[in-house]
Amino acid sequence: MEYDCDFFYNEDLADFEKLNTTTKSIYELDGIDCLIILKNGENLTDFSEVKDLADIVYISLDLSQKEDLSNYFFYKKFSFSRYGHNQLKNVKAIVALNVKSNVTSLKCMFYDLKSLKTVSGLDSWDTSNISDLSRMFAYCTNLETVNGLESFDVENVKNMQYMFKRCEKIKDIGSIKDWKINEECEFEKMFENCSVFVKMEFYSNWHNQLENSFDDIFTDFSPYIDLNKFKCRNCGQFNVIYDKKSSKLLCRNCGHVILEYDSVCRDCSGSNLEFDYGIMGLVCSDCALINNPK
Ligand SMILES: [Zn+2]
Ligand SMILES: [Zn+2]
Repeated sequence: MEYDCDFFYNEDLADFEKLNTTTKSIYELDGIDCLIILKNGENLTDFSEVKDLADIVYISLDLSQKEDLSNYFFYKKFSFSRYGHNQLKNVKAIVALNVKSNVTSLKCMFYDLKSLKTVSGLDSWDTSNISDLSRMFAYCTNLETVNGLESFDVENVKNMQYMFKRCEKIKDIGSIKDWKINEECEFEKMFENCSVFVKMEFYSNWHNQLENSFDDIFTDFSPYIDLNKFKCRNCGQFNVIYDKKSSKLLCRNCGHVILEYDSVCRDCSGSNLEFDYGIMGLVCSDCALINNPK
């Protein structure tokens, strides 16, 4: 089976493409360095024009002139108090472009953006001098995808602690399992409270590289799950995705069917079934029953 792009089509960004009335596309800023879309559809090009930061749902930014990006979307630049909640509390998508090699820390850059679902543009960054990625996405509890992470140069990174802490919905960072990691890097609790799915993705690569401390980077998984159940019998990889149309859990690498489910809930016959990557189970949104595979 071919890798099917439509399968991973990002609806979130398509919605903002429609709301954009300012630039050719949300990925090309045409000479401006900032595009902001508010929840009423209004387009702005400067943060100083925004009356209430909570109105922002989308941000596209050129960061090539920035040197200090630590805490960038958090309190330092956007909140009153260090301990207050993030005021960018409704932003759903960020396209961040052109980080240059003079940047050395991305610590807490996207910290506590509770509504954020998608981050893109990271393939345009030069991260060769970055030493600190700690807490970069921590507490982004709705974050699902980070596009471009695989192209990060992390050879000088010494700290990835808590980088994805509480990213409970994250499911598309498998590409970073091929990172060339620095031997001196601290990884403690990098994926604390993430989904079991994440652990599975990293199992084959990182388990070998970090033999003694592998389990320390993944902590607080509630259920005990036999990871081998989700390993592809065809290609040997841990890389699954649930296909709603066919009610099948597929190997994203080769398309092999790993598990097959009924298309309606066994208890209430509802068809509102969502695969929860945190518990690796198919959950009925109507009656909360965890449906077992066929
Ligand atoms: Zn496979
Ligand atoms: Zn049900």
